[in-house]
Amino acid sequence: MSILPAAERPNPYSAYGAHGSVLVLNSGSSSLKYQLVNPVGGEAIAAGTVERIGETGATGIVTHTYAGNKTHRELEVADHGAALKIALGMFDEVGPTLADAGIYAVGHRVVHGGAEFSGPVVVDDDIVDRIEALVPLAPLHNPANVQGIRVARDLLGDVPHVAVFDTAFFQALPAEAYTYAIDRDVAREHDVRRYGFHGTSHQYVTGKVARVLGRRVEDLNTIVLHLGNGASASAVRGGVPIDTSMGLTPLEGLVMGTRSGDVDPAVVFHLARNAGMDIDELDTLLNKRSGVLGLSGVNDFRELHRLVEDGDEDAALAFDVYIHRLRKYVGAYTALLGRVDVIAFTAGVGENDAAVRAAVCADLEALGIAVDDERNAARGAERIISPDWTKTLVMVIPTMEELAIARQSVEAVDGLHPTSAVTSG
Ligand code: AMP
Repeated sequence: MSILPAAERPNPYSAYGAHGSVLVLNSGSSSLKYQLVNPVGGEAIAAGTVERIGETGATGIVTHTYAGNKTHRELEVADHGAALKIALGMFDEVGPTLADAGIYAVGHRVVHGGAEFSGPVVVDDDIVDRIEALVPLAPLHNPANVQGIRVARDLLGDVPHVAVFDTAFFQALPAEAYTYAIDRDVAREHDVRRYGFHGTSHQYVTGKVARVLGRRVEDLNTIVLHLGNGASASAVRGGVPIDTSMGLTPLEGLVMGTRSGDVDPAVVFHLARNAGMDIDELDTLLNKRSGVLGLSGVNDFRELHRLVEDGDEDAALAFDVYIHRLRKYVGAYTALLGRVDVIAFTAGVGENDAAVRAAVCADLEALGIAVDDERNAARGAERIISPDWTKTLVMVIPTMEELAIARQSVEAVDGLHPTSAVTSG
């Protein structure tokens, strides 16, 4: 099988021709990332970040890229309202002006949609309250998302705002995949279950695989490996996810840049009892001081490889642990899917790190999985890196979360999105 040339791929989004651009906002606890996207052609018209929002004693860092020029500023950024004002000011000053851009919608990335949101939803006051009510499930993420939506609605009041949830795609998981085997009453009362994250990326990559191969998504079984600073795996049968590695929060599953992924939950009890660590310290340990960083001292794979080349044994072990976990998930998802048509690598590590891809797929010929060294080493856009004889195609598919958010925002505003946005309970 081969990749269809771009001109021969169906573009289901060409019907969006009459729309303008979408401003996509991703509000983190101390940062705001934004991108102005053409939802039809897919290109980023302008993009920027405001970092170190509200950090006492630190100067905020602003970058704005438009028409190939990167503008850099350092100034005080008190809060998310100030950050968005600065971003809007950059559009006025550097371009494109928002009047010229013709904003059709503002799309907000929201981390946790609980069991309530299974698709993008046009935001009103009630929706903001409901996203805020999910803060106990995502105390590290949803507060900033809510704040971002509030200030954006204040400053850009005359366009529709849409919330696009990281969890939405995985609301289709079957009960046996999302249920933890704990006391059912405790689980129900406290909404304890697997939700899954990076859903926008997993959904986008699954669809993109089908489009570039000229196949129907319904006919493909795909394992998606989203390997960025956060990392997650999913098993998708015919476009519908049947399992994913992240859980109640984005901490479960693969080894990540700074997160542990799977550990025996008793590690927490053990450290609380014996190391005197409290809940917040344990949260920080597992979310920020673990993973590749915790094992090696660095979390960027480019630095990790340098350390390994210099003979650093901790770095070599970190790489091996990272790969071991990934291979376990590939094996598990192969068993769940029964037949794997495509393994798709995406995000910072997945798209750029040939050594990781080669190690994940090594010695799996008996399963019909292999990587061709030359194809794996080549760079470029979406591509096949397996040899011609394999049963399973191994692919690299650059993820475009902002574009996916932009398109889902248009679909929500136009009432075209295939999944109903809000489910009861
Ligand atoms: P993301 O969260 O998708 O932006 O991915 C960020 C991570 O991708 C970084 O922390 C690096 O570990 C990794 N990364 C980015 N570029 C490269 C590269 N050229 N080679 C290996 N890893 C990379």
